Amino acid sequence: MGKSVMARIGLEIHGYLAMHKTHQKLFCRCTVDQDAAPNTTVCPRCTGQPGSKPMLPNKEAVEKVVTCALMLDCSINKKLIFQRKHYDWPDLPKGYQITISGTYSHPVGEHGKYLDVGITECHLEEDPARWDPETGLVDYNRSGYPLIEIVTEPDFTSAGEVKDWLESLLTTLSYLKAVNKNAGIKCDVNVSTEHHPRVEIKNVNSIKTIVLAIDGEIKRQHEVVAQREKVFAHTRSPPDTYGKTHFMRSKETALDYMFIPEPDLPLIHITDALVENIQKMLPEKPHIKIERYKNMKVSATDAKILASDLALADLFEKLAKTVDPLLAAKWLRHELLKIMNVTQRTLQEVEFDEKHIAELLQMVVKKEITDQTAEGLLKQMIEKSFSPRAYVAQKGLGIISSEEELGKLTQKVVSEHPEAVKDYLAGEEKALNFLIGKVMALTKGKAKADTVKELLKRRIC
Ligand SMILES: [Zn+2]
Repeated sequence: MGKSVMARIGLEIHGYLAMHKTHQKLFCRCTVDQDAAPNTTVCPRCTGQPGSKPMLPNKEAVEKVVTCALMLDCSINKKLIFQRKHYDWPDLPKGYQITISGTYSHPVGEHGKYLDVGITECHLEEDPARWDPETGLVDYNRSGYPLIEIVTEPDFTSAGEVKDWLESLLTTLSYLKAVNKNAGIKCDVNVSTEHHPRVEIKNVNSIKTIVLAIDGEIKRQHEVVAQREKVFAHTRSPPDTYGKTHFMRSKETALDYMFIPEPDLPLIHITDALVENIQKMLPEKPHIKIERYKNMKVSATDAKILASDLALADLFEKLAKTVDPLLAAKWLRHELLKIMNVTQRTLQEVEFDEKHIAELLQMVVKKEITDQTAEGLLKQMIEKSFSPRAYVAQKGLGIISSEEELGKLTQKVVSEHPEAVKDYLAGEEKALNFLIGKVMALTKGKAKADTVKELLKRRIC
């Protein structure tokens, strides 16, 4: 890619708001369900039947957008006026979309900043239906889903910057449980190079494709200029399977949408008390957590992984109060995540008593149990939290460190495997590992391999 090309990139990010409490659409009581059979969660309102009017907006959706806007350091507008954004398309039966964007509108939040990128505005709108141009079929289930739109300033200069920023933004939104992660995001990407008019790439639906679209567009504009042609403002399709975007239409202006205030909805007042309450509940931002963890000497990679999930970060912070943060980081990031992965669980589904995990790690530190025993216990504790100390005492799982006891076991193994002893004495290191394995098996993993190795060497040599 031509390194000398100066690019300015801005994003319009659309995400589905997660309606954990109400599970309802924005202007009717229909259920929000991504998996429902086509046209089964619909009513006269969300299919735009003549005479139907919107109900008052879903309060949960309004609060979620205010929460996101505050997290992105936006100032909140206290009087929200819904607008009709007119366009004629099969996915929009009433001929307009209800949104808080547009010419006469004050967005829910504006003038924000997230990781040095300006947030122009944050607003709420309804999703249109899903239209398949191939078959002509329309599924109205999605019609009326509450969407958040986050618009950035054109502050990015490369696809790499956009990728890192979006990953961090998605983690932040997941902290707020504001956006339905499974539903993904949709982005309109604006790219302008060397002060040429900006080109918009519509509906790009994954971070990977966004990177592809930006790199491709910078290259395309470069080629247009190289051929002594003009870059003009227009809208392009998302990248196809070959990574190519195609001309869609010349850029609409706001006027084309004929925005008018929605006469069937009242002005929505956001109270100071609501804003204050939400502000108080906001979690610490992920990048601040990462810095704090690094100050505790946790490695950058571990810090990033711990902060990628709020439940994991919370658990780490509780543990780090009573055990060495490095040990807690190691066990959560490696052992716990490995177990969660294998059992296909999420931390949200597991009820841990962090006191029990702290107890487990303290026993590891004091060498009361082996790492192997601790891993086994952790696996059981995911099913149901229990006190590992009491359990170890009851089941006799404590570490075997008595030389007398281990001596008897090494003697047994040495006398049962004379061939392996001979091989080791002939210089074959692997034979020693075999013998160590046999002793460890007899102890059921309750001895330290290093101790066993020393004892074996002493006995054989
Ligand atoms: Zn409905």
